[in-house]
Amino acid sequence: MKRIYVVEDEENIRELIKIALQGFGFEVQAFETAEEGMDAMRKSKLNLMIFDWMLPGMDGTDAIREIRKSTAYRHLPILLLTAKDKEIDKVIGLDNGADDYMIKPFGVLELCARIRSLLRRVEEDESGEEKAFGTIRLCPNTREIYKREERLELTYKEYELLLYLMEHETKVVTREELLNQIWGYDYTGESRTLDIHIRTLRQKIGEENQPFIKTVRGVGYRFVNE
Ligand code: CA
Repeated sequence: MKRIYVVEDEENIRELIKIALQGFGFEVQAFETAEEGMDAMRKSKLNLMIFDWMLPGMDGTDAIREIRKSTAYRHLPILLLTAKDKEIDKVIGLDNGADDYMIKPFGVLELCARIRSLLRRVEEDESGEEKAFGTIRLCPNTREIYKREERLELTYKEYELLLYLMEHETKVVTREELLNQIWGYDYTGESRTLDIHIRTLRQKIGEENQPFIKTVRGVGYRFVNE
């Protein structure tokens, strides 16, 4: 059984998530503060963590940043909950290390779908074969990416995006396809998310390796191995 930890200070939301996820067959433990959740995380093995952003004491994004510092938890799937639409720019811009986020109020079915998708990718990665493209090497079982011998620090979404583009090398991938495949649901009105991720990905891959990800104006992107 997959174990999920939830950190949410609002009692009714915490209980709702807990009961819903238990209903979907997950083992769930819920905590009021990031400190309690992280303490429990270090004491037992878990598959996924959910953090609310606004928390008393350490907030969700600070907690995620702290967790990502440790190699043991670099690949732990983490989902961030955020209360306001307005915060979304911050969520995207922050590069806080969360693998996905949801805006409150959200439906429990959607939450469960996102969780399953995160868990499925981790399982697929564990059986994946190494891929190399030019100076970039990707190790799916550790979710690590190297540029020559230098390890690149990619967020979950950046990794997914790069992997997808690599797997469809030389083919033009449309923006809609990327949003559907990587984000997995209707992103109408938020397609800026994709631009931001492409931009950070290009920065991390490095200017000297451009154009690895070519923009196909008005259509989408193409990964070029030259
Ligand atoms: Ca809160």
